[in-house]
Formats: sequence, structure tokens, C-alpha cells
Amino acid sequence: MSLDALWFDPAKIYVDGVWRAPEGGRLLTLEDPSTGLAIGEIASGEAADIDAGVAAARGALAGEWGRATAAERGRVLARLGQLVLARADDLARIEAADVGKPLKQAKADALALARYCEFYGGAADKVMGETIPYQGGYTVYTLREPHGVTGHIVPWNYPMQIIGRSVGAALAMGNACVLKPAEEACLTALAFAALADEAGLPKGALNVVPGLGEAAGAALAGHPGVNHVSFTGSVAVGALVQAAAARNVVPVTLELGGKSPQVVFRDVDLDAALPFLVNAGIQNAGQTCSASSRILVERGRLDEVTERMAARYRDLRVGPALADLDVGPLVSGRQKEIVLGMLARAGGADVAARGEIVGNAPSGGHYVAPVLLTGLAPDDPLAQDEIFGPVQVVIPFEDEAEAVAIANGTDYGLVASVWSRDGGRQMRMAKAIRAGQVFLNNYGAGGGVELPFGGVGRSGHGREKGFEALYGFSALKTVAAYHG
Ligand code: NAD
Repeated sequence: MSLDALWFDPAKIYVDGVWRAPEGGRLLTLEDPSTGLAIGEIASGEAADIDAGVAAARGALAGEWGRATAAERGRVLARLGQLVLARADDLARIEAADVGKPLKQAKADALALARYCEFYGGAADKVMGETIPYQGGYTVYTLREPHGVTGHIVPWNYPMQIIGRSVGAALAMGNACVLKPAEEACLTALAFAALADEAGLPKGALNVVPGLGEAAGAALAGHPGVNHVSFTGSVAVGALVQAAAARNVVPVTLELGGKSPQVVFRDVDLDAALPFLVNAGIQNAGQTCSASSRILVERGRLDEVTERMAARYRDLRVGPALADLDVGPLVSGRQKEIVLGMLARAGGADVAARGEIVGNAPSGGHYVAPVLLTGLAPDDPLAQDEIFGPVQVVIPFEDEAEAVAIANGTDYGLVASVWSRDGGRQMRMAKAIRAGQVFLNNYGAGGGVELPFGGVGRSGHGREKGFEALYGFSALKTVAAYHG
């Protein structure tokens, strides 16, 4: 895709409603993961640009944006949703070129971004406090107020969805945002800023500063002018972000990684389960925080489930984003090296099946054929560590108790699913599994803009998505009036 078709300048940052070069004048090369070729340059913002973004956000809170009613905030978000929807095909093409996502997956992300704007636009004026019965002579009520300036640090795997759920909810509650997209995936963040401008979002309410994590990201996480930080990314960087925010004593939402299981009991409806078992592992080339990388199967159906999954794997085709096959390239050469390095250590594993990289895939693209592994113990590193590539591991279990022990036997706890027709077992498993979301006889529930999402353990803390995010992006104030 040619960057000439963009409706914004990717080499600029967006601060206080103005597009300008970053202070240091530095640029980063933009690469198409499908070819490995450079396709342009993006701005590399630094601490001074983050300072400017935070100052602009503070100014917005003191100005038109701070005075906007909840209904007005909702209306501008709804308009923004309409503009995103109208541009969904363009946004999908931009994302496909930027991160290598197959076109239909990129389009799904664009539609999800529109849905977040619609959902949070509609919700903005429906967040209410309470009145609390108290001692005689008092009337007590609560107010939900914005934190103020919110910082948003976003990864490269689902930029549009993560911007929608985090910036959308923050704006709905009346915060002013500074967004630092991942250096590998800035284009749709900038496109979103341009559309927000067109929708009439007051200047300074949203500022976008692309740049390196250790420069712009670290500056945002530790900025004394930021009142809340939302971070989505790796565990290691999440811990740094939390430590930086702790120095300013501000709340943090951490959406980190996962090693999410699907637990398949012998009474599974396998025809219904099969597409979910595989897609949840290979969608976005496995670069999904909530990817299902562990398939736990009750011993009596082990061979059948493995063989049917293997048959699907053998049909998987991997190729350029615009060819819109089952799987695209990984986002970068570095990510490919990480995944292949982990696979190289899979000494004890059996390869049940592999997908196929199509013959005409450009040789410089970052392709990895999906692989289904068996024969690994539950505590093997490949069954414990997040791989963030198209790799799934099949692990047998004997009974419900062992299924729970294996499902809960990692440091993570993001999502999980249970496949069984037994209602009592579904309820027991849903309670016993440690995770932020549990799916019964499905996986992912179609993305669920409305459904609170987040992890336990090393998957993070705090919740985004749904109404719950509006509570996270606001502070509760209790007002106790004594009137005798
Ligand atoms: P990453 O942690 O390397 O980067 C995420 C963001 O943090 C990027 O914008 C990066 O520039 C920034 N960053 C890097 N160093 C920083 C620093 N020192 N201070 C502040 N910011 C810094 O993660 P990634 O490789 O981009 O994404 C992959 C990880 O994200 C995986 O572990 C995945 O599971 C996780 N993830 C989680 C969710 C979720 O909702 N739970 C969603 C998507 C991705």
C-alpha cells in the first residue's frame, strides 16, 4: 500500500489539535511485515513531545473538553464511530500493510473500533452515582469523576481494538488522553486522531505521540502530570510501567499476556468446537494476548481431537496480508526470531501437523508456519511461556480435578474455555478456573466490546471493555451533606 493514500502525515505527531514534527526531528522506518521492505517513515517522539501532550491534555480539561457535558462527550464519540465505520476498509488496508494482518482480520479490528466508539458514546451519559442511606441528618451520594490526564500505552497486535477500548472509555468519562502507540504500529492510531479531529473532538482531548518504548513510553508512564496509566503489552514492560506510575502514586491498568487453555471434555460437541480450538490459536498468527495456546483434552478423546485439529492445521495457508489467507506474517523479524527460538527448544515434542507457507510469499516476509505440538508435559516451557506465534500444544488429562490443576498451572490467568455438554461441570469449571473471562462452549464470544476483560496473576489487573472500564477510568467521590 502506498502511504500517499493516507489522510494524515505519518511522520508527524498530533498534539493539541496540531500535526507537527517531533521535537528531536527523529524518524523511524516503517516496514511491511509481508515483504520485509521499508514503506515509509514515522515520527519518533521523545520525552519533550510527551510533555507537550500532557500539557495539551491538561489544557483541554481546563477548556472546552472539561466543560463538555456527558451527553456532548457521547455525541462526539458517536460521530467518531460513524467516521471510523465509513473508513473501515481504508483502516483495514492501512493496518494490513503496517502489521501484516490478513485483510479480513484487519477489517474486523476496524469494525470493533467503530463499535467501541458507539458503545462508549452511548454509555457516556449513563454512568451514575448512588445515594447511600446514612445517619439521621445526612444525605450521602457518590459522583463518578474523570481521573484527569490518562496515559495509554498500546502494543502492535490489535492497535485499533485496544485504542477503542481504552481511549474510548477514557474519553467517555471526560478524561483527556495521551496515546503512545507501539513503534511497529502507529498508522491507525494517527488515522484515529485525524478522524477524531474531523468528528469535532476539542483540541487537546486526544494527543498521539508515536515513539520508542524506552523513550516516549517510559516518559509517559512516569510523567508527574498523568493521573492514570493504561498499559497493554508484555509482563516485563508492564512491571516497569507500574513501578514508574507508583512513583507518582497513580492507578494503573495492566493488560498483559496469557497462556490460555481450552479444556475439552469427552462429551464435547467436537464439530462445534473444532473451528474454535484451532482459530483461537492461529488468529493474528497467534499474536493475541487471549490466544488459546494450550488445548487440554480428556484422555478418552485425545487421539480423535488431536487428529482432527491436525487435519485443519495441514489445510492452513500462510501468506501476505493482502492475499487474505488463514495466517499472515509475524509483525517483525525480531518476533519471528523469538518464536523460532522457542520452537527450537521443543526437543521433546512431537509435531502433529504444520500449516504451509504459500510458494509466492515474499522471501523477506516474516512468515512462520503454524505448528501443533503434542507429547509435552504441562510444566514444559512451551506449555508455560507465552510464545506469541502460531503454536498450540495438546495436553491430555484424566479427570476434572486434573483439568483444573493443569488449566490453573501457569503464572497467567487471562481467559479460558470449557467444552462440555454437562451443565454441572460447566458451572464447577467456570468457578474453579483462575481467569478474567471463562467461555462455556465457545471461545472469545465474538470479541465482546460489552464484556469486561482483563487478567489475574501475570496477566495483569484492572478491567477494560464493557461498562466496567468506565469505572476504571473514573474516580469515585462520596459527598456527605449534613443538614440536620
Ligand atoms: P511490549 O511490552 O514490548 O510493548 C507494548 C508497548 O509498551 C509498546 O507501545 C512499547 O513501545 C511500550 N514500551 C516498551 N518499553 C517501554 C518502557 N520501558 N516504558 C513504557 N512503555 C514501553 O509488548 P509488545 O511486544 O508490543 O506486545 C506483546 C505483548 O502484549 C504480549 O505479551 C501480549 O500478550 C501482550 N498483550 C496483552 C493484551 C491484553 O489485553 N491482555 C493485548 C495485546 C497484547
